[in-house]
Amino acid sequence: MDALAALMKGPLPDLYFCIGNPVVGNPTQYMVEEAFSALNHPGRYLTCEVQPTELEASMWGLRALQFAGGNVTAPFKQQVFPFLDDLSESARLCQAVNCITRQPDGTYVGDNTDGKGFLQSLKEALGDIAQRKVILFGSGGAASAIATELVLAEIRELVLVNRSEDKAQAVAKRLQGISKTIVRTEKWEGTYRLQEDGLVTVQATSVGLFNKQACINVEFEGGLKDCLACDVVFNPVDTAFLQKAREAGWKTLDGLGMLVNQGSIAIRNWTGLEPDRTLMRRSLEEAFAVLTK
Ligand code: NDP
Repeated sequence: MDALAALMKGPLPDLYFCIGNPVVGNPTQYMVEEAFSALNHPGRYLTCEVQPTELEASMWGLRALQFAGGNVTAPFKQQVFPFLDDLSESARLCQAVNCITRQPDGTYVGDNTDGKGFLQSLKEALGDIAQRKVILFGSGGAASAIATELVLAEIRELVLVNRSEDKAQAVAKRLQGISKTIVRTEKWEGTYRLQEDGLVTVQATSVGLFNKQACINVEFEGGLKDCLACDVVFNPVDTAFLQKAREAGWKTLDGLGMLVNQGSIAIRNWTGLEPDRTLMRRSLEEAFAVLTK
């Protein structure tokens, strides 16, 4: 009835979007609408598959229709830059946008909430991270967003390890000197051995996505103190990488927490409201269960 009253008497609900290609299988709409509903926020969220040749027209269309904000997913995270009025520091530094917010003056600002979502999970798991050394595998979009936030958070040291070393070097060059964090790259030849007390490692390659057995070529030393292994892959939630880490006595952090957090930060950007993250996690689990039915 509230929705009908809004339709007949106004104000109309805020509209939000997710654009990407492909987007079937992306659970964000379900997660966000569940959160909106619990918040009593009258927002409507639409998942739209956009052809690459239509990106420009789509972006002007979303503006003309006064969408309040939305998400951008592959392959458009870099390509939306020309259609935005401003960028957050995170989006500028990692050169990717996954969240857009309409400002009160009608301008559109791009942010990157992937790295921020990860950082929130990491801080919740460890508390103070200032003295930590992080070994980050991968140098694609997710890794670059995470690296950016780790450097902005001024961790002690960040080591970037990627199959194509040039990509790791490009990320390191971009982040060099931004804060006091030591940023360097290491070659990934054969098995990478993780063997220091207090280490944090992040699996940010796409290996293991939709594949329970697949794992990057790493070895976790046992008997270490205070080590944490994190995976960005969220489906399956308990990846082969995390299982291998646990077997060696490491603590672990899954990618679903990061996915929930990046979504909750987006909702905060759009509405100023704090969504229920437990409910959001449950919605994602429900959505992924549909895929396996
Ligand atoms: P990209 O395609 O941008 O990057 C993929 C990365 O994986 C590259 O560094 C690539 O190395 C590396 N890689 C791929 N195959 C292998 C392999 N066989 N061995 C070693 N390295 C490999 O992907 P994204 O960064 O966008 O996504 C990465 C993962 O992060 C995906 O699983 C995605 O679902 C997940 N993700 C999770 C989020 C969350 O909230 N939990 C948010 C965003 C993404 P190379 O450069 O050599 O090709």
